[in-house]
Amino acid sequence: MTRTDHLYIHVPFCKTICAYCDFCHVVYREETAERWLKRLEEDFAEIKDEGYSTVYIGGGTPSSLNIRQLRELLDIVRPFSRKTEEYTIEINPESIDEEKVLLLKEYGINRVSIGLQSSDERLLKLMNRHHSFEDVRKTVELLRKHGLINISLDVLYSLPSQTMDDLKKTVKDVLELDVPHVSLYSLTIEKGTIFDRLGYQPLDEETEADMYEYIGKELTDKGYIHYEIANFAKEGFQSRHNLGYWNYDDYRGMSCGAVGKIHHKRYTMTSDLKDYLEKKDIMEVEDIATREEAFENIMMSLRTIYGLDLKLFKERYGIDFTDEYKDAIEKNKDHLLIKDDHCICKDGEILNTILIDFIKE
Ligand code: SF4
Repeated sequence: MTRTDHLYIHVPFCKTICAYCDFCHVVYREETAERWLKRLEEDFAEIKDEGYSTVYIGGGTPSSLNIRQLRELLDIVRPFSRKTEEYTIEINPESIDEEKVLLLKEYGINRVSIGLQSSDERLLKLMNRHHSFEDVRKTVELLRKHGLINISLDVLYSLPSQTMDDLKKTVKDVLELDVPHVSLYSLTIEKGTIFDRLGYQPLDEETEADMYEYIGKELTDKGYIHYEIANFAKEGFQSRHNLGYWNYDDYRGMSCGAVGKIHHKRYTMTSDLKDYLEKKDIMEVEDIATREEAFENIMMSLRTIYGLDLKLFKERYGIDFTDEYKDAIEKNKDHLLIKDDHCICKDGEILNTILIDFIKE
């Protein structure tokens, strides 16, 4: 695919900062958000693309913008979202209300991702999350009331002091909400986060693996398709935007903290909001060597149950996959399936070990 089909916009504001988070974010201030919107509008004025099949407004917390600013943001994006089939926004329960939901509907947003993380009050507090499970339930009801049924929940596991029973309760609560999409994240304690500064440790690897296995089994037993290592969906609700990343399509990233990849170049936007606002060193552009890009494509695509599209691979890099990587394929033949011009990894849990054999100097 040579067209840039996917657009990501990073909203760098959050009402409060979660203890585990190292994303690009600052605490929401109305005036800073005004300046950011103006800056973003200037960036969008330079884009010539006609429209994107998927648009994803993430963050940060896009819903932390006030209603007028949220409308302004959606107005900026509007010319680029006219042909959009999947238009997603991330929200948090404490910053969404009916007026904002109606606004999302008005602008054609048809998918909403909610940060649930856990349904356990103690763990939510530990993470400095300012909502309860009940708030999430009400948010899901509010979205459904207005026809926004394509809802995804983010669930974080392997949290400090989290027990298997804590996790089981969260999974039970998630299943009760019966949303069509669930994304899993296992906690890593990143440098500089509140957890890091407080000296928290993640759980041991064995418990983490048990938790992953438990969630996977529960969700697939209830009819979710485990379509990517950390993502589950009811049929027809797989995220098209994220499938674009895993298919290694080109995508455009807008605003500080975003990354894009267009025509074999990677664009990394500064994660410093101040620099972004002042237009200082805002972007690093890097040529991606063919071998490197080919490997990244393999790495991303083998994460999904749909696998690597071998025809597209040849088209993109001029490389015949089965020929070029025959030794790696032979070595891992028990874990790989080559069928209908696709290579599929049958065992996502050992993907990282398999991938080492595909690295070419
Ligand atoms: S996890 Fe989400 S809501 Fe929490 S600080 Fe990070 S971006 Fe903001």
